Amino acid sequence: MITITKTFLPKIEEFQSILARAWQSKWVTNRGELVLELEKRIKDYLSVSNIIATTNGTIPLQIAIKLFANQGEVITTPFSYVASTSSIVWEGATPVFVDIDPEYLTIDETKIEAAITNKTTAILATHVFGNPCNVEVIESIAKRHNLKVIYDAAHCFGVLYKNKSVFNYGDISTCSFHATKLFHTAEGGAMFCNDKDIYHKLFYSHNFGHNGALSFHGLGINGKMSELQAAMGLAVLPHVPLILKERKKVVDIYLSKLDSDKLQFLKIRENTNWNYAYFPIIFESEGVLLQVEKALNSNNIIPRRYFYPSLNNLTYVDNVRMSVSDSISKRILCLPLYLGLKVSELNKLCLIINENISQP
Ligand SMILES: *Cc1c(COP(=O)(O)O)cnc(C)c1O
Repeated sequence: MITITKTFLPKIEEFQSILARAWQSKWVTNRGELVLELEKRIKDYLSVSNIIATTNGTIPLQIAIKLFANQGEVITTPFSYVASTSSIVWEGATPVFVDIDPEYLTIDETKIEAAITNKTTAILATHVFGNPCNVEVIESIAKRHNLKVIYDAAHCFGVLYKNKSVFNYGDISTCSFHATKLFHTAEGGAMFCNDKDIYHKLFYSHNFGHNGALSFHGLGINGKMSELQAAMGLAVLPHVPLILKERKKVVDIYLSKLDSDKLQFLKIRENTNWNYAYFPIIFESEGVLLQVEKALNSNNIIPRRYFYPSLNNLTYVDNVRMSVSDSISKRILCLPLYLGLKVSELNKLCLIINENISQP
C-alpha cells in the first residue's frame, strides 16, 4: 500500500545510542541535555535566534494565542489544518476568517484590512504546505493596526524565504514535529521568535510559569518536550538534507508526469526555497477528485484530502462563506510524498491520475 506519507525512521541503533544517554543520566524530561542539544542543533541548522522545543505543534499555537489574542478577534485563514482554528477557539478568542489567494493558497493579504475591527488583537496565518504567506505586507498591516502576528509554520521545517528561515518572520512562528511532518520527534514541535521579551514569556509559559522551583513569573502550562522525543529528533536531524533531496525528486516526477492542462499545482511564492512538504493537486471539480481518489484507492494508493473541510465550516465557528477556500478545499488532494517512493510506483500513480482526470 502507498499512503500519503511514511514516517522517516533512522536506523534503530542510531536512535538507541542517543537514547542511552537518557538512561545514563536517568533524566527523561524537564529540559535535559537532549532537549538542549536538539534546540541548539536546530538553531544552528536553521539560523534562528530563539527556539523552544515543545511536546507537540499545537501547544505553541495555544501559548502564542494566549499571550497575544487577549480573547479578542484573531484574523486567520480558513485553509489550514484544524489546529489553527481550534486553538483560537480553545483559548477563548474568536476566529475571523479571511479568504485565501487562489494560487498561493495562503491568506489573501489584500483582504485582511477589511476584516480588522476594534476587537482585533492578532493575525494567525498559516504558511500552508510550506508556502510562505506574503510576510512583508502582513507585517506592515500589523504595524499599522498594532496587531501581533503568529505564523502557524507547522509545515515549514527547512523553508527559506529571502535566504533566511521562514521561522524568522512574525512575532512568533510555531512548528510541528509530528511523525507525519518532514522533520519529526514522533510527537513534538517548537516555537520561534526573535524578541527577547517574547522569548522569556514563551519560555515560562511552556513550563507552568516557573521562575525557579519556588516562584512564578506568571500563568503557564506544560508544553515541555521530553528527552525521549528529543532523542528521536537528534537521530532524524542529520538525515534532513537527504529527506529534502529525495522529496524534491518525487515532486519533480509529479511535475513532469502529471497532466498540467487539467490540473492546478501549488504556486510557490517568489524568493522561496521550498521544502517539498506536500504535493497538492487541484482538480476542475470535486467530482473529478472523487473519481481519481476512487481509482487510486482501488490500486491501494491512499492520498489525503488536505485540507477539507474549509475551516469556516466547522460547527464551533461562525459559518461565513469563503468562496475561494470553500471551492479549493473541495477540489484539492495531496499525493503520496516521502523518501523511498519508487519511480515505477510514481509512474503508475501519475498514469492513474491522468487517465481519470476527465469530467465524469
Ligand atoms: C500538524 C499541524 C499542526 C499541529 O501539530 P501537532 O504537532 O500535530 O500538534 C498545526 N497546524 C498545522 C497547519 C499542521 O499541519
